[in-house]
Amino acid sequence: MKIHEYQAKAVLRKFGVPTPNGVACFSVDEALAAARTLGGKLWVVKAQIHAGGRGKGGGVKLARSEEELRTHAGAILGMQLVTHQTGPGGQTVRRLLIEEGADIRKEYYVGMVVDRVSQRVVLMASAEGGVDIEQVAATSPEKIHRVAIDPLAGLTDAQADDIARRIGVPQAAMSDARAIFQGLYRAFDQTDASLAEINPMILTGAGALVALDAKMNFDDNALFRQPDIVALRDPDEEDAAEVAAARYGLSYVPLEGDIGCLVNGAGLAMATMDIIKFYGGRPANFLDVGGGATTEKVVEAFKIMLRNAELKAILVNIFGGIMRCDVIATALVEAARQVSLQVPLVVRLEGTNVELGKNILAGSGLATIAASDMADAAEKVVKAARGSKGGA
Ligand code: GDP
Ligand code: MN
Repeated sequence: MKIHEYQAKAVLRKFGVPTPNGVACFSVDEALAAARTLGGKLWVVKAQIHAGGRGKGGGVKLARSEEELRTHAGAILGMQLVTHQTGPGGQTVRRLLIEEGADIRKEYYVGMVVDRVSQRVVLMASAEGGVDIEQVAATSPEKIHRVAIDPLAGLTDAQADDIARRIGVPQAAMSDARAIFQGLYRAFDQTDASLAEINPMILTGAGALVALDAKMNFDDNALFRQPDIVALRDPDEEDAAEVAAARYGLSYVPLEGDIGCLVNGAGLAMATMDIIKFYGGRPANFLDVGGGATTEKVVEAFKIMLRNAELKAILVNIFGGIMRCDVIATALVEAARQVSLQVPLVVRLEGTNVELGKNILAGSGLATIAASDMADAAEKVVKAARGSKGGA
């Protein structure tokens, strides 16, 4: 799960990481009021979307007067902001962060991720911070310094100081750097983050270190114990199909193909995608309805797949163990009735109550293509997708 910059900054402040003063706003009037409250002569107007690269896309602007602030806030709110992380369609800006303008002497990069190789949280930092960190990572990775953090010891003073020295933090700001790195680690650890980034961390004209930008992602599997983080969710920024899937407890991952897959069991779902590929097709999604799926859940799974305009055919592959084939058949008939299915539907049922399930499908009048085993099902769905105009 992702959150907005202003929310990430609020999380980091709780752990002692300094950030500029700022106010989240939903309208130009609120932006003007925020600037007056903040005071000063320079403000920054920042688009809040769940993607980076906003500066280059025109989503971060400095304002030196209320007039400029009104102009920038008006232009950015509602804009379709395109960055290298949004895809060509961009993302609609619905929220702004108005901050007091910072006096930047130097920009550093600071990031934290879970490194699968060392099985540790790793702190990364570079003197080459700001908007081009991807470029630095690609062309001069040696300029990004790393340290793996022992989960028992946490980020030690010595490790924090060493990284600060390597990126050239001036002596007078060493204690600020320690507070930021250690605060970032505690925030990361205690909120079950999967990624945290401060890019840039700046050295101000007055010689202090401040988190000028902040990004945090969280491990979805830990959200059950992070109610404060879940409360920060912004459904406007999330894929509607994934939001619906999460609500119904479905494991759903959208992919780039055109064959929808509805399967029970993650392993069978993976195998189903593999065999579709083997027969020359492209799966449109991974979807595991789980072992104890109800009619309601299966109907919802169909609706989620059918949001995809590219969909050309659907393969339902059920191995009835705990899940009985008659239950899934009843759910399929109900789902097809509710969503007025426009694409070919290939069904492979096996296991508990399979005959009963097949009879329900046959007696329903629903036009399904029956398949005897997985290979047969994959071959049939690939063929059906090729001959289908789509129309989901
Ligand atoms: P991103 O492009 O989405 O990563 O957004 P950032 O928050 O990192 O802003 C992009 C760039 O805008 C930063 O690297 C800074 O150079 C600049 N910027 C952001 N806030 C300020 C500010 O308060 N003062 C000045 N002078 N520049 C800023
Ligand atoms: Mn940034």
